[in-house]
Amino acid sequence: MTRILIVEDEHDIASVLQDYLRHAGYDTEHIADGRSALDRIRADAPDLTLLDVMLPRMDGLAVLRELRAHSAHPVILLTARIEEVDRLLGLELGADDYICKPFSPREVVARVRAVLRRTGGDNAMPAGASTSALVLDETHWQATLQGEPLNLTRREFRLLQALARHPGRIFSRGQLLELAYDHSDDVTERAVDSHIKNLRRKLAAAAPAHDWIRSVYGVGFSFEEPPD
Ligand code: CA
Repeated sequence: MTRILIVEDEHDIASVLQDYLRHAGYDTEHIADGRSALDRIRADAPDLTLLDVMLPRMDGLAVLRELRAHSAHPVILLTARIEEVDRLLGLELGADDYICKPFSPREVVARVRAVLRRTGGDNAMPAGASTSALVLDETHWQATLQGEPLNLTRREFRLLQALARHPGRIFSRGQLLELAYDHSDDVTERAVDSHIKNLRRKLAAAAPAHDWIRSVYGVGFSFEEPPD
């Protein structure tokens, strides 16, 4: 049975999450402080950890930093505010997803499923590889989506490549600038928006049934694979 560890010091929230996750067929465990959670994960790692940021004894960020030094263990951070996500992204801690409070438990279950699906096999897609639907041929700068050629500019190609290597992970504009643009490029974060807009249009033309790029208001963008 898939085991989810909930690390949360607010017992009401933890208990609602436990109910929903159990109902969705997961085995759950609850720990209320960061230090115990880290010990528990190291001793016997669950399949995924829902990790609150503000915790007694050791905060969620310190726990994640320790974990990331040695493992790609799937972690979804629970944060108090949407504004905080931007700061967390800036720290490049490598959470697999972020959920802002207040959240609906249903949303949490959906995100848990999505993260488990994409971390179940290989953790990150290597360069030039493909998701189920998207094929990126780096040698020829050619991309196809569900068999349809996308005719991307190099810039759009690199943006899509950066996003698609970690489906579901949210990238800030600043991170995309670093990943998809050369340092010599004199571009602003606004340029990212306009390239994303064009990229979206091309993805939608090739495969309109799904919204491939998710905008997270005030934070950034992620590449979303369609549900199975
Ligand atoms: Ca808390």
